[in-house]
Amino acid sequence: MPELPEVETIRKQLQKEIVGLSITDIWTDTPKMIRPSPAEVLKRVKGQKIAAAERRAKLLIFRLSGEENLVLHLRLSGQLFLHEPDDSRDPFLHVILKLSNDKELHFNDQRKFGYVSLVDSDAELEKLVAGYGPEPLDDLTEEQFAGIVSGSNRRIKDLLLDQKKISGVGNIYANEALWLAKVHPEVKASSLSDLQINDLYKSVLKVLEDGLRLGGATISDEKYRNLYGERGNYEQAVRVYQRKGQPCPRCKTKIEYLKVGQRGTFICPKEQKI
Ligand SMILES: [Zn+2]
Repeated sequence: MPELPEVETIRKQLQKEIVGLSITDIWTDTPKMIRPSPAEVLKRVKGQKIAAAERRAKLLIFRLSGEENLVLHLRLSGQLFLHEPDDSRDPFLHVILKLSNDKELHFNDQRKFGYVSLVDSDAELEKLVAGYGPEPLDDLTEEQFAGIVSGSNRRIKDLLLDQKKISGVGNIYANEALWLAKVHPEVKASSLSDLQINDLYKSVLKVLEDGLRLGGATISDEKYRNLYGERGNYEQAVRVYQRKGQPCPRCKTKIEYLKVGQRGTFICPKEQKI
């Protein structure tokens, strides 16, 4: 699933490519992916200029010149590509947003959980994004992070993944941050020491910054590609994710696999203890 670095990479590319353009037509074979409906969205956005491409948590936001905004969520398997109109179509292509420069945004989604949603006004958008936690690479302070962690009795990994508490951290970066801070993913959040919380805060920022710098993560069968269809390079910075049985880069102990809240989890059993 695309996490903060992947969505932010796509956002930057969108900002470069589509600002100043407008959406001239919408095609879909999966109407449920366009809310409230393809016809209503087209009617409301047609002719409006795209003023900015923004991101909040894992949401992409197209700010339009009028009252409305468009929100796009890639969810589990969504991909967003900038295409020439005569390009061949991917078997998982379900939505096309046609642009005023004759290029197209192709939204591919094997599992069809992704969506494009019309938001009526800036006030509605504010309400929507207010449900997400602070942004690690923007406004999440160490003090805030410490408050979130020490005030929770949940497992630390579940807490890191909770978008209402902290925005943008998904499974790959949670695994990497916990290994970096030498924290077991199933430890109760409130039991972490101040020093561990401080380490974990820095680790979360570090892995997300690395992810962003390397253009996101495309590891083994991950679907993530950027707006131009290119893979991300975070794989070269990964230390534990999908590395079961390989030596821990710090202490050479074999990396182990476990499931935490249904999500694949990778740890160094020697350094990450409950
Ligand atoms: Zn180790």
